[in-house]
Amino acid sequence: MSPSASSLTGSPAGSPAGGGAGGTAGGAAADVPAIRLRNLTKTFGAKNIGETKAVDGVDLDIRQGEFFSMLGPSGSGKTTVLRLIAGFELPTSGTIELEGQDVSGKAPFQRDVNTVFQDYALFPHMSLVDNVAYGLRVRGMKKAERRERAVEALDRVQLRKFVARRPSQLSGGQRQRVALARALVVEPKVLLLDEPLGALDLKLRQRMQIELKELQRSLGITFIFVTHDQEEALTMSDRIGVFNNGKLAQIGTAHEIYQRPTGAFVANFVGTSNLFGADVATTLYNRSSQFVLRPERLTVHWDGAGTTAGLEGVSSLHGTVTSLVYVGHATQVRVALEGGPAVVVLVDNDLPAEQSLVGKNVSVSWADNDAVWLPDAA
Ligand code: ATP
Repeated sequence: MSPSASSLTGSPAGSPAGGGAGGTAGGAAADVPAIRLRNLTKTFGAKNIGETKAVDGVDLDIRQGEFFSMLGPSGSGKTTVLRLIAGFELPTSGTIELEGQDVSGKAPFQRDVNTVFQDYALFPHMSLVDNVAYGLRVRGMKKAERRERAVEALDRVQLRKFVARRPSQLSGGQRQRVALARALVVEPKVLLLDEPLGALDLKLRQRMQIELKELQRSLGITFIFVTHDQEEALTMSDRIGVFNNGKLAQIGTAHEIYQRPTGAFVANFVGTSNLFGADVATTLYNRSSQFVLRPERLTVHWDGAGTTAGLEGVSSLHGTVTSLVYVGHATQVRVALEGGPAVVVLVDNDLPAEQSLVGKNVSVSWADNDAVWLPDAA
């Protein structure tokens, strides 16, 4: 998706908040959400040629100054939500409020938001300073002032010394930072980021994650970040919305999403989960619901003797080791449990010194209160 020139810009820099409901002279009151989505729905296509409900009744409040990530598998609707907030798409139904003002039917340039795209969409024939100053030029700012502001923005992303270069004379990470500077120079209320680190290699990506988070914290601007990379979302976000089939499956902090998934989809999508069926739960706990245990919450007992038998608040099952995967700081041990699922257990690297542990009879235990119960899949 390539933005048009107008899509790179929000409303004029320094323009008033818009004076809508909830807005005050100096901006919206702190308790008014930066973004409020109500029953937001977007359907593509038509009944006779086939319809896709890309976004299906989404309700969401994103707080001012929040780093909010929209996480989900490919096709789950997160980019469409971002494009709806930006105004590149109009909703089929439902509303979008920006700091208390309904912007649902407004054009992109009438919304005080700006977008950073995965492909950066920089102008190749312009210097960095001209790229960054572009949005200010469109707004009619005088040359000297817009140059000063653009240089300041480039300084903020540590690129001041390259102001005269063209984008082709930069590395991928540096181009990414120019795109950020260009989006931020117009001081939008909300910055939308569509998988902006997707094209970078792992090391650079990790460095940019930290830089981006620090930048957001220092500026206090609301960031809405789209990614399908769960680690990225868990590392950077104040809160995360997990999407599945156009709906929000769960909203919460990284800790809540990881430790307390509210359904099997989130439990499986975010991190590695060991899902125990209702049959096992009935046998162990006399409770007919699924539950989840994270690999680091399980313990392997290599003597297989069920060392935890009879311990209050601890459960265990016997099983057979099927494989071991060394992951650097630890080893993932796969165990096929008798009367239970095949599970992954994360163990320290001090494994028993035996020729081969595959095929060994072991037992696997866990504290009962580490089990996360999932609602019935009705
Ligand atoms: P990805 O991570 O792959 O970008 P996503 O979660 O961002 O995926 P969307 O791009 O929002 O997903 O797409 C959601 C659904 O809407 C998909 O089934 C997609 O094919 C469909 N879709 C998106 N844009 C259009 C369009 N312009 N016309 C028709 N269908 C579309």
